[in-house]
Amino acid sequence: MSVTIKFCGGARTVTGSMHLVSAGRCKILLDCGLFYGHRDEYYAVNSNFAFNPQSLNACILSHSHIDHCGNLPTLIKRGYRQNIYATPPTKGLCRYMLPDSGFVQEKDIKYVNKINKRKGLPPRLPLYTRKEAEKSLKYFRSIQYHRKFPVSKDIDLTFFEAGHILGSAVSVIDIKTKKGIMKIAYAVDLGRKDMPLLKDPEIPNDINYLIIESTYGGRNHGSIKNAEGKLTDAINRTIKRGGKIIIPSFALERTQLAVFFISELMKRKKIKRIPIYVDSPLAVNLTDVFRRNWEYFDDITREAFLREKDPLGYDNIAYIRSVNSSKRLNNETGPMIIISASGMCENGRILHHLKNNIENPNNTILIIGYMAKNTLGKRIVEKNEQVRIFGQLHELNAEVVVINAFSAHADESGLVEYVKNCRGRLRKVFIVHGDEDQSEALRSNLKKLNLKPRIPSRGEVVFLKS
Ligand SMILES: [Zn+2]
Ligand SMILES: [Zn+2]
Repeated sequence: MSVTIKFCGGARTVTGSMHLVSAGRCKILLDCGLFYGHRDEYYAVNSNFAFNPQSLNACILSHSHIDHCGNLPTLIKRGYRQNIYATPPTKGLCRYMLPDSGFVQEKDIKYVNKINKRKGLPPRLPLYTRKEAEKSLKYFRSIQYHRKFPVSKDIDLTFFEAGHILGSAVSVIDIKTKKGIMKIAYAVDLGRKDMPLLKDPEIPNDINYLIIESTYGGRNHGSIKNAEGKLTDAINRTIKRGGKIIIPSFALERTQLAVFFISELMKRKKIKRIPIYVDSPLAVNLTDVFRRNWEYFDDITREAFLREKDPLGYDNIAYIRSVNSSKRLNNETGPMIIISASGMCENGRILHHLKNNIENPNNTILIIGYMAKNTLGKRIVEKNEQVRIFGQLHELNAEVVVINAFSAHADESGLVEYVKNCRGRLRKVFIVHGDEDQSEALRSNLKKLNLKPRIPSRGEVVFLKS
């Protein structure tokens, strides 16, 4: 039986993770993520698969970030009718993440069609709608961590902790070949050790082939301890000035982590108790999934759940769903913290908060997430004197504080250490999910370990020796 991996997406780039493992006649898809790029490329890449979706036997999901699960509704539109395997929290989070993504697709296409109409071009259909995203949920099957499960005749799946976000997993597939069992581990995305709430990433035994991410293949993060000090100082300075703290944040994980961190600082009296508002309907729903899945957190958090009613501090927060309540925040004065999406300040309610608060030097804009090039978030990080919001220029007078240490991805030393610990039976490492400079940096580090690391291109097929 020949075993191959086809790297269909998320190769030599960060988004659109999708890899096809074929073992004889059996075909298993690892992740089905959305690719982000300029609009035409976005539609072209995400609408076409490098395989026939109807020929697949199963799909295995690493976690609920859209660049890993966001193209599942298209897969189902193209005829996929098999199971989608995920951990129970990932299944719970996808229940909100996928319909929200459908909603974003519909909104985006409305905007595109307005422009197309002006240009006399025909209207376009969204990649998928909210309804279509909801339909894909019925194919989800949850599998507990560490439980070996047959996904086809010759292939078993086991999920291990990835420590990246709630529910994230390193998927290990055991393929029965004539020469014995071949083990492939898929560690994309991989988290960090000692992060609050989450368990540390686990290292499965006897891996033969490893597919690993490289978002930060050549960079190291600051320590979380230093970040705590920086966060405390920034909040206290703003409280003294009587200003507001505006935190642009992704709805999933980063928002919940920020809330947890700030509540901890309040509990330990490092900062005064001031109101915290989470202004994102998606974040509110996802926070509920966090509460319901408390047993998947690390030991400290689990014990706290048995002891306290609300260890994550989520009860101190005002959650805002309606647009009117969101707008009312503009009229309120005094120190407060507003956490709102989108994470890169490109759309969503955060834009209103920035528009209303960016010109006041008493306020602080606290950046805790990655900002891509050409986004409003990046322009704020670069402290441009003026920034454009809703088409109008605004003076950037608020204080800007950037904290990078909250990253959910393993950094250079974390990735190298992970691979070192997988050695033994490891024959080859495939480096994916990274910009080329970052993947190259990881490759040169792994070469020193004699591991023949390889950075596959999109569409490349590799034969695996059993
Ligand atoms: Zn991720
Ligand atoms: Zn990712």
